[in-house]
Amino acid sequence: MKSLFIAGNWKSNKTITEAMEWLRNFQFPISNFQLKNTSIILCVPFTLLQIFKEQIKESGLPIALGAQDVSPFPEGAYTGEVSARQIQEFADWVIIGHSERRKYFGETDTLLKEKVLHAKEMGLKTIYCVPDETTIVPAGVDVVAYEPVWAIGTGKTDTPQHASHVTSVIKQKSSVATVIYGGSVTPDNVAAFIAQPFIDGVLAGGASLDPQTFFKLIVVASSPS
Ligand code: PEP
Repeated sequence: MKSLFIAGNWKSNKTITEAMEWLRNFQFPISNFQLKNTSIILCVPFTLLQIFKEQIKESGLPIALGAQDVSPFPEGAYTGEVSARQIQEFADWVIIGHSERRKYFGETDTLLKEKVLHAKEMGLKTIYCVPDETTIVPAGVDVVAYEPVWAIGTGKTDTPQHASHVTSVIKQKSSVATVIYGGSVTPDNVAAFIAQPFIDGVLAGGASLDPQTFFKLIVVASSPS
């Protein structure tokens, strides 16, 4: 059975109260489920990192924590930015290059390379998002997420076969061993992606916001078909 990597991306969603409610509903089922060969990473807004870190420690939740972005600069006079050094106090992972960062904040491959560099320097592990197999993956990236832009938050997915082909090309070109698929993944369609030989897991946005849905997605993904 292959190792699975399942990440949730909360984007700009949830207050502390809402996050605590989510945790209350996620904690019981996940703690009573045997996770075999499956890593779960939850990427929350910066404002929730501290409380999540505390809760994970306190309750022994079997999940790792991630941020959704990192500054391309070290600590210093960069108003509004959150540096890798600050993030590593709370999280082990960071998403870099999500298509929403590329689209709404004009992030370029050159800038994203700097982000990867700073994240690595501070010991953060990186999930690097690419829209296709032609996008260059910077050296040092730990996990690549293939996310076709048209599939993100639209309810439309790539076909599992095509997604597997793209992930295999990404693996060959980048030498990154773990490549996952993202784009409207749900508990209903996740098994078809996981069944593909070159797909090592999924990145779920919308499906991670509801604790029951996210748990169901994890159960389906980690149960051999
Ligand atoms: C994402 O946030 O990377 C994503 C794939 O979102 P969704 O699952 O909602 O399409």
